[in-house]
Amino acid sequence: MYFVDVILPIPVENTFTYSITDAEYSFIKPGMRLAVPFGKSKIYTALAIGVHTTQPRIYETKDIEHILDEQPIVHLGQLQFWKWMASYYMCTLGEVMRAALPNAFILESETLIKRKKGVDLEATSIEDDDVQLLVDALQNSSSLRIKEVMDILGKKKVLPVIQKLIDQNVVELEEEIYEAYKPKLVSYVKLTALYEDEGKMHDLLDDLERAPKQRELVLNYFSLSAKSSKPIKAKALLKAANASSAQLKALQKKGVLEKYKIQRDRIEFDGQEGDGIKELNDAQKLALQEIKTIFQEKDVCLLHGVTSSGKTEIYVNLIKEQLDQGKQVLYLLPEIALTTQLVARLQHYFGDQLSVYHSKYTVHERVEVWNNVLHNQQKAQLILGARSAVFLPFQDLGLVIVDEEHEPSYKQFDPAPRYQARDAAIVLANNQRAKVLLGSATPALESYYNAQQGKYGLVTLKTRYGDVMMPENTIIDIKEKYFKKKMSGHFSDTLLEGINEALAEGEQVILFQNRRGYSPILECNTCGHSPQCPNCDVSLTYHKHRSQLRCHYCGYHIAMLQKCMACGSDELDTKGFGTEQIETELKTLFPDANTGRMDSDTTRGKYGFEKIITSFEQGETDILVGTQMLTKGLDFRNVSVVGILSADSMLNIPDFRAHERSFQLIQQVSGRAGRTKKRGRVFIQTYNPYHQILQQVSANDYSGMYKEQLEERYVYKYPPFCRLIKITLKHRDFQKIEDASVWMGKGLQNLFGKNVLGPEPPPVSRIRNEYYRNILIKIPGNQSLVKTKRAISKVRGSFMSVGQFRSVKMVINVDNY
Ligand code: ADP
Ligand code: ZN
Ligand code: ZN
Repeated sequence: MYFVDVILPIPVENTFTYSITDAEYSFIKPGMRLAVPFGKSKIYTALAIGVHTTQPRIYETKDIEHILDEQPIVHLGQLQFWKWMASYYMCTLGEVMRAALPNAFILESETLIKRKKGVDLEATSIEDDDVQLLVDALQNSSSLRIKEVMDILGKKKVLPVIQKLIDQNVVELEEEIYEAYKPKLVSYVKLTALYEDEGKMHDLLDDLERAPKQRELVLNYFSLSAKSSKPIKAKALLKAANASSAQLKALQKKGVLEKYKIQRDRIEFDGQEGDGIKELNDAQKLALQEIKTIFQEKDVCLLHGVTSSGKTEIYVNLIKEQLDQGKQVLYLLPEIALTTQLVARLQHYFGDQLSVYHSKYTVHERVEVWNNVLHNQQKAQLILGARSAVFLPFQDLGLVIVDEEHEPSYKQFDPAPRYQARDAAIVLANNQRAKVLLGSATPALESYYNAQQGKYGLVTLKTRYGDVMMPENTIIDIKEKYFKKKMSGHFSDTLLEGINEALAEGEQVILFQNRRGYSPILECNTCGHSPQCPNCDVSLTYHKHRSQLRCHYCGYHIAMLQKCMACGSDELDTKGFGTEQIETELKTLFPDANTGRMDSDTTRGKYGFEKIITSFEQGETDILVGTQMLTKGLDFRNVSVVGILSADSMLNIPDFRAHERSFQLIQQVSGRAGRTKKRGRVFIQTYNPYHQILQQVSANDYSGMYKEQLEERYVYKYPPFCRLIKITLKHRDFQKIEDASVWMGKGLQNLFGKNVLGPEPPPVSRIRNEYYRNILIKIPGNQSLVKTKRAISKVRGSFMSVGQFRSVKMVINVDNY
């Protein structure tokens, strides 16, 4: 008897065992995908993790359906990494598998049954009615989904029937997306051998006097091939000659040009490879040297370099060194910073060795990168990617760069695995004996603490490249400005003056407001009522452009009200403001300027933010208003003024990281100003001009901020002095969530005493009609993390066995952000 253990891409605790044949036993290797039956009628893609001969005692094993791979697509090192992740972030291996593999690798009930090509269905031996029905159906359509087969046969248990046809070798199982995958082919043109002869060519050109367009095409072909020895794309030729494909076809018919196809990667850049790496300045050289020295002893180094200090150029030097040794490099970035700008910049240095791995690319593109990394192809030696790139099948990783390492978006919130990609990258690098460089102008407190403790090395770059000065900061007291009637809308006279001066000089302006929409609250002046979302405990945000009230949690929306819903009064007033309102005000204040807006309302779609960034970069937009999206490492050349419209909304968020986050956001957005010779100016509007964080921001005092925040974290027992695990319970029934959270809270308090906070409702305690309760567990540095998690799992186990709690959803978030 032979068996295979597999992971299924679903949130079940255990791995599963299936029976296999002798032949399968010797063929299957860990990391290959298998199609397996599961439950009553489902087919899943499972990942083999090992074969053996020990029969499981508690259940009878089913047979696998099908082996999907000839070779493993996941290697043993990855399986080890997955196991670490499942255990550290307290989720299942199936959940990690789902996050790790490109979707195209996972087939499900969408699986297709396909008639094999060249098979005569008539010849099938019909054993029973079901087989007859299925064969009839396949006569009409060459492929059927498993779901459809169920309908045709009028029953759930269809796999045995399908199996009979598979055994007879007349049908095969196929996953539509994956199998439909075809490498992208690009058309090129070349001269036919006949016309390589110069004399013939001259005759031809004479002949073509009467077909000037075709002649033009041929001439353009020559000029293109004179410019570069690279093959000539059909598209490029048509463009250069301003010709149509019909004219090209005519030349093909005459046997002058011929078309041929080359398989190209989808992710392909036309950028020309550059003139080598930039010469570093002295500060950069020193930093680079220090990093290298640190890497001789330590595995992780933090590069703390002010905005525009030239960190990227230092990364480039380190990357080059690795690539020259044939090693792979992973360059992690927050999703949004992955723009054409940066890609082009790196392409300039590394040409074809660069691949991008990005959730906005199609499944096929991701499969391509996956396979290139797995086979250690040169074109995927340097991977630029967002957090999910840590799951790629690296074979020989030498270096990981985590740029903007302080970014909260490195942490995945939902669904599980709720991993922090920066931290996971350190584990990944460790498994592969690679080094890690964390880079930021405003490091996360935890990272800086690790550096201070000597766990990481620390390298500091205090000056901007080209001796550009750090921007000049002005804090503006808007309470006073309102009092003195110096405000126009949400703009103080000081900020307006700054903007005016920048525009007069032909320079650009960035305005930051950490809220989207027009105004977050609509309030009745007569009775004080403000419209709420019926599904969530939040006020509806007014979106003026669409004339709607919208919920930012569930998407619920209604038309803007004319009268108060409670008292009927028509005196409705808006409270607070978002990016949309700022943009509207700008249009009145600066009617001649072009304004743009970047927030999650304007950046949907594959190239959503790309378009906005490009138009700003190319100077089509003068003033760009946006949310925190603006802060992520974008390099704009012509911005001289940055305005923070209301610093208070960030400072007042009820979260122990709010102050650190405000410092980072303001510092980062300020860093977009004055990146060239002229000194930039930053205007910070606030009701609390003496707030310590604003003072520290305006003095560029990271270490002051660090010391003070660290002190508070110490006193109130927060990271880095302890770890946090947040447990969230959700249910539609209010009473049930009360009971469940009290039960859970008690269970945890019995174990961890006063290190358990809550249960308590979060600031928004009902979302999509589900009530939320949070319990926070603090784990002091001297307490075993492994034992703590084991204990929590046990409490979870007993909780789930209470009948009335079975329907309560429970989310565990380790190292909660
Ligand atoms: P950071 O990542 O630290 O914010 P960048 O690497 O984006 O800074 O550098 C800021 C600007 O200075 C970029 O436009 C970059 O091209 C330029 N720069 C940095 N180092 C050099 C160098 N050694 N030679 C020429 N230009 C440089
Ligand atoms: Zn009212
Ligand atoms: Zn809602």
